[in-house]
Amino acid sequence: MNFETLGISPALLRALADTGYTTPTPIQAQAIPLVLSGEDVLGGAQTGTGKTAAFGLPLLQHLSKNMGVRGPRKPRALILVPTRELAVQVSDNLKTYARHLRINVTTLYGGAGMQPQINNLQRGVDVLVACPGRLLDHLERGTAKLDAIEMLVLDEADRMLDMGFLPAIKRVLARVPAQRQTLLFSATFEARIKALALEFMRNPKQVEVAAQATIASTIVHRVHPVDASRKRDLLIDILAARHSERVLVFGKTKHGCDRLCKQLDQAGLPSVAIHGNKSQAARQNALNQFKSGRTRILVATDVAARGLDIPDLPLVINHDLPMVAEDYVHRIGRTGRNGASGEALSLVAPDEAALLRQIQRMLKADIAMETVDGYEPSRPLRLDGSAMTKRAPAGKPGGQHAPRKNSAPRPQGAPKAGKPHRGHGHAHGDANKAGAHAHAARNGSPKHRGAQDGRRDRRA
Ligand code: AMP
Repeated sequence: MNFETLGISPALLRALADTGYTTPTPIQAQAIPLVLSGEDVLGGAQTGTGKTAAFGLPLLQHLSKNMGVRGPRKPRALILVPTRELAVQVSDNLKTYARHLRINVTTLYGGAGMQPQINNLQRGVDVLVACPGRLLDHLERGTAKLDAIEMLVLDEADRMLDMGFLPAIKRVLARVPAQRQTLLFSATFEARIKALALEFMRNPKQVEVAAQATIASTIVHRVHPVDASRKRDLLIDILAARHSERVLVFGKTKHGCDRLCKQLDQAGLPSVAIHGNKSQAARQNALNQFKSGRTRILVATDVAARGLDIPDLPLVINHDLPMVAEDYVHRIGRTGRNGASGEALSLVAPDEAALLRQIQRMLKADIAMETVDGYEPSRPLRLDGSAMTKRAPAGKPGGQHAPRKNSAPRPQGAPKAGKPHRGHGHAHGDANKAGAHAHAARNGSPKHRGAQDGRRDRRA
């Protein structure tokens, strides 16, 4: 199955090819045909599943069909989102998909000046991506009009309700024509979401993908603390020691992946790379080489690997941690499938501690920290204020060690987003599970450091 068979139009297909998407994600496969046929859709999907394109592609396709009017236009599609970050992310995605279409996407969120937004609205808009509060401001001032809306999307509806936006949503919806197509995406279908759907949607079709944050319990996660400058050498040692296994290595950037690929080649470890700068043919070629076993090492960026049919692997190595914790799940989903045992190995520099904490908060599994002899980092890698490492025998990096006993504890209960934890006295959230460690840390400065680091994470 591909985007063409789902009914996506040529201009959008071209944009997808430019972006490097080859295969629709499950939520896209389910939702796109329904949305294209004009149905209201209630989608159960979290960030990371490809939900933005699941509603964005058919939405753009619908708008592009009747683009007769020239000059300033009123918005015909409205996407309500809970946060400014999501507004920016969604509109960036839509602009990417709409690059071969004459469709304008405008973003409205609070905390930014009204006037530039008013100017944008006056210039003419096709798609409005907005947070409810700021949109209401514009509606009350008469600077935004919703009487031409044909498609409405409530994205991350559960989060909007969590944030108390229900009254604002209702006021916005009162200004949107009843004759419209409505799509609602939420991580869960709890009662309040169903109630919202019942009130504002017409006979919605329900599609759902499993929460993506499920990682096979057969996977062992381990971290090797190492200075950034020594990661490449450590990676080479690991790959040389495990010479018979197929390995997927993740890098952060396209250039970083290319460089790594060359360095591995020079070290006598042939590899192929896939990333967004490579043509579709080059990527397919690399993937074929890897799948057929001609090359056993594949180096990839997150975007390039997403949606690709990569076979089950015994080992995935993160040369760099992903920028968002969810991507760790996507990466690691390549190993340990169907009950097979798998290993996820991350080379983590002290500077990446905040990312590692996010990943550990999300994973409901322990991560074993093992320093490899000869690769000790110049500063300790701190997970929750204290350095907890075990040594791996020299020359046997990456999974050849003795059984792991001292897994790092769960991180301190860092405050949930939007609720900074300022006190000294208690930890919350996952801290309950941190048990003795949380208790021990409470009595000393590491706890405090942990909480502060938690705050820094979220600002980053
Ligand atoms: P979302 O859940 O919409 O935030 O998407 C998560 C990530 O997956 C984004 O970085 C998208 O660019 C990417 N993505 C979405 N659909 C696909 C696809 N079919 N193939 C590859 N990457 C995709």
